[in-house]
Amino acid sequence: MERYIRKTTPNVPNARGYYGEFGGRFVPETIMPALDELTAAYDEALQDPAFHAELAHLQATYVGRPTPLTYAKRLTELLGGARIYLKREDLAHTGAHKINNALGQALLAKRMGKRRVIAETGAGQHGVASATAAALLGLDCHVYMGSVDMARQKPNVFRMRLMGAEVLPVESGSKTLKDAINEAMRDWVTNVRTTFYLLGSALGPHPYPMMVRDFQSVIGMEARQQILAATGQLPDVCVACVGGGSNAIGLFHAFRDDESVELVGVEAGGYGINTDKHAARFANPDVSRVGILHGTRSFVMQDEDGQVRETHSISAGLDYPSVGPEHAYLRSLERAHYTFATDEETMRAFQTLSQYEGIIPALESAHAIAEVIKRAPTMPKDSVLLVNLSGRGDKDLDTVIGLLGSA
Ligand SMILES: *Cc1c(COP(=O)(O)O)cnc(C)c1O
Repeated sequence: MERYIRKTTPNVPNARGYYGEFGGRFVPETIMPALDELTAAYDEALQDPAFHAELAHLQATYVGRPTPLTYAKRLTELLGGARIYLKREDLAHTGAHKINNALGQALLAKRMGKRRVIAETGAGQHGVASATAAALLGLDCHVYMGSVDMARQKPNVFRMRLMGAEVLPVESGSKTLKDAINEAMRDWVTNVRTTFYLLGSALGPHPYPMMVRDFQSVIGMEARQQILAATGQLPDVCVACVGGGSNAIGLFHAFRDDESVELVGVEAGGYGINTDKHAARFANPDVSRVGILHGTRSFVMQDEDGQVRETHSISAGLDYPSVGPEHAYLRSLERAHYTFATDEETMRAFQTLSQYEGIIPALESAHAIAEVIKRAPTMPKDSVLLVNLSGRGDKDLDTVIGLLGSA
């Protein structure tokens, strides 16, 4: 049981869903009762061994957990520093970590008697994970997706439809993830009695950031055991890419109390953080500061008037103007550090991992690999670097072919 949902650090978040000054619930009054209902149902599920048992059973027999830990021998030799280990979330069913959370929330929806789930998606990965979990459990699934993202991620749109989900194009704003979230929230306000909002990252109003973290904490719990078994020591550094922040917080959570372990999140540096084409929420105070977006208080990329800025990343999954409140909190405590990788560095890392390890990473995950490429050579040879490979790159081949020319 313990293996699949980790609960540690008492009072984080506090009862009102705050991580220090971050988090909380900034939603229309009509949603408040739904959030209370959800919080109560989640608390109750956590007390019920049958809920843990069902999730554990599906994680093992359906998702394919535990995912392996791979020693990246040739990449380690190439870089000549720290020993590099990859946590292989790319090998989870549907090809990324998102299924961990989607399955947890879909089980909760079923338990609450809600037959309809709605979701929003950027890269399409969360939509696919939600459609998958809904098909498995026999729930109706409606997925909001920006039309720009739909064009970027056609195979994922097709996958969702194949599994019986309805994909609803969003034409407002920049037609990407943040607009899809707005639409999903609007739907939830209207249909709150019958509908469960299956939220895709460690974002949104309380209890979502906590619940998503808990469902993703399996990543770090497994990795911690696996790296101890493989090396006899804790990692010196854990690295993960940060979009909304769910794969990173899922990895970091298990190491949060291990003070010797440095936690490093990697944001999307796009064309560079001094251009207006990136999504590095922590990197440049001129374009990003504390604000409220989609129900939570965190860092938000905004202009002088507080209007949300358009963001850019080579990877749809990191292309979001805010970041999970727990990351803002860990950063304020200096417990975790945040850096960024540009599109160009990411493309190089994408190719390097493919060539040296025979693993084609998701472009999101390639941001974390880019940081590994910078950092590993500066670390002693007996040190250990653990990186979360959040997903596989099949979904990104069109983008990459466009940039590199046909293979
Ligand atoms: C969605 C996605 C991400 C970014 O989301 P987080 O919530 O920050 O983890 C990263 N990697 C992959 C493969 C994704 O699909």
